[in-house]
Order: sequence, then C-alpha cells, then structure tokens
Amino acid sequence: MVPEARPPDSPLPDSPLTEHLKRRIAVEGPLSVASFMGDALGHPKFGYYITADRFGAAGDFITAPEISQMFGELVGLWCAHTWAAMGSPDRVNLVELGPGRGTLMRDALRAAAMLPPFREALRVHLVETSPVLRSRQGEALAPALEGGKPVWHDSFATVPDGPLLVIANEFFDALPIRQFEKTPHGWTERLVDVDPDGGGFRFVLDRRPGPVEALIPARVRISPVGSVFEICPAATAIARELGGRLAGSGGAALIVDYGHPRSAAGETLQAVRRHAFVPVLDDPGEADLTAHVDFEMLADAAKAGGAGAWGPASQGEFLMSLGIQERAAMLRQRATPEQTADIDRAVQRLIGETEMGTLFKVLALTGPGQDAPAGFEPRP
Ligand code: SAH
Repeated sequence: MVPEARPPDSPLPDSPLTEHLKRRIAVEGPLSVASFMGDALGHPKFGYYITADRFGAAGDFITAPEISQMFGELVGLWCAHTWAAMGSPDRVNLVELGPGRGTLMRDALRAAAMLPPFREALRVHLVETSPVLRSRQGEALAPALEGGKPVWHDSFATVPDGPLLVIANEFFDALPIRQFEKTPHGWTERLVDVDPDGGGFRFVLDRRPGPVEALIPARVRISPVGSVFEICPAATAIARELGGRLAGSGGAALIVDYGHPRSAAGETLQAVRRHAFVPVLDDPGEADLTAHVDFEMLADAAKAGGAGAWGPASQGEFLMSLGIQERAAMLRQRATPEQTADIDRAVQRLIGETEMGTLFKVLALTGPGQDAPAGFEPRP
C-alpha cells in the first residue's frame, strides 16, 4: 500500500467582506481607515451592524441602556424637563440616532408617560441603517407605541422639521474615522493595504503629498513624530447639521459617548469581540470597531451650525445630577435581595470612576439662547 500524502494545509477562505475589501484595494489602492471602517461596520450586505444583533452578555459588548432601565428613564426625564423649558410645544420630534435594540427609547417613553402632555407631544423617529436592529427596535417599542410604528430614517437629513429632542448613545463612536500620523517629513494619512505576508490587512502610510496639515489643529500639529491624530468627518457633518436644525427649530440634543473633551493626539481605534479587545484589522465585519469621540470637534461643528453647546459633563456627574441614586433607592424598595445587588452593581457600572462614570461623557446642544439643560452648569 502506498501511504497517501496529506495535502498541505490551506488557509481559511476569506469572508465575503474581506474579499470585497481586497477587491477594492486591488482597484483603488490602499483605503483610508474610514473606508475600511465604514465597510466593516456598515457594508449593506456584510457589515457588522447589518448582519446581526451584537448586543448583550452573549454578544460582543454591552451599553448603558442595556445595563439598567435607569439610564433610559433618566434620559426620558431629561427630555421632559427640556421640553418644558422649550415652552411645552404641542409637537416635538423625539429622534434617536443609532438606537441599537431600542431599549433606551423604550425606557425613556415609559418615563415620559408619567407626564401625559409631554408623551402626547412626542413623535418618535429612529435613525438606523441596520435592518436587523430596526426589527428589534420595532418589537421593543410596540407596547409603548400601542401597536404604532416609529418612523425610521437612513440618516438624520430626512427627519421632518420642527422642534427637536435628539438622543445619541454610543452612536458617534461607530462612525468611520480617518487617521493621520506624524512622520519626520510631516503629517500623512494612514491607509489600509493587503499584507503581502499572510494575506490579512496592514497599515501603510500614504506617500502621496496632500493637504493633510490643514486637517490637524495647530495645537496637535506640534506633537512628536509617531503621534496619531483621528478625525471623524461623518460625526462633524452630523453635528453641524444638528446645530443648524436646532438653531432653526429649537430643542436640544444629548450626546453620550466615550471620548476626550478636547481634540488631542492619540490612537483610539479599537476592535471588540465577545467582550475582549482584538486586533483592529483582523476579520472585518466580525468585531465592533469604534473610536473615541472628539467632543471639542462635535461642539465646534454644532456651534458653527448655530447651536449652543454645554459640557461635556462626565456621565457619572450627569446621572447623579439627574437623580440616579434617588431612582435606585425607589427601585430597591420593591426589590428582592438579589435584585438589590443588581441595582447596586448597575449604579456602580454607570457612574463609577473606574467604570463608565468618567470615560463616558455627555454633551448637550441647544437652540441659541436656551438656558443650560438639566445636568449642566449654567454659564457664568
Ligand atoms: N444606542 C444603542 C446602540 C449603540 S451601537 C445603545 O446604546 O445600546 C450603534 C448603533 O448605531 C447601532 O444601532 C448601529 O446599527 C447604528 N449605526 C451605526 N452606524 C450608523 C449610521 N451611519 N447611520 C445610522 N445608524 C448607524
């Protein structure tokens, strides 16, 4: 008998998204980090958010509204307070950007129902690109909307005119960023290319001369060689549009995310899969890619659109000033010992300094001339 030689191991076949990205690189050359990230998260067929619901203990990550009902309830009360300060308009568009599973909106609407004139004024609009998540949102909101449906939009641009309340929790961190690196010859863009060894992806530097320096704030431009600076053009565009709409129609927006209060050098692009960090260019479409939000850029863009900007406050300070401890005490009154432990743990996660309390920040935008919204210091 002749022993049959085993054929050499062949590498795992590429996923359809990896194939698509490699074809793009073959045709267009190395891609900007924003193009890579945009496809990884939002490719209409294979993108990370498009193909599945990734939330919760069994998924990749967990967000504040998924940790506790208190988060959405307090945001709902913040909206009610802001609506009263707007002069209690008969109609207001309550808009959520990137509503995930719809949990925040569901909890906010339950809190809003305690103030019937406010609840009756609300028209719910959801800006969401993922069909899978749209259907989760529809299910989550059906009871609160009494069988009615929210109105979905692919982008904020199609939300109708009128007074606005806008909520965005962990939405801006999912928008594609561009990365720039300081070299001995000046700033240059980082691009994503196919790695000739191994066939995965790798970062390369753009060798073509381009007007990159103008995109880097003067304060950051002087950073040492090797520094990285990130911009998020989609975030800036949405903030500017929000600013313009708030200036025209009045209202407020509440933006909650992790990030830095001032524009600064730093590499923050990260990939998370099953609650752990993984290399950012591995397996696009299979891990959550996010970057820290530059709150200074968001605030400046909204102000350029005509809005007022408040904060950012830390999530811990913000939730405490809205009364999270009082709300937790109310919930504890009816809780079993096990539920009490869950409530204590949730409060700790949401406001604890080493958990979400300090890293996460809250920026509010308002129509011009409006007072400081609840949870923010009045201007001196
Ligand atoms: N706010 C939710 C979900 C955060 S995850 C929570 O706190 O749990 C980001 C959300 O934004 C998802 O719903 C995702 O599908 C959506 N999303 C990402 N990019 C988007 C885009 N460009 N336009 C609209 N929605 C987007």
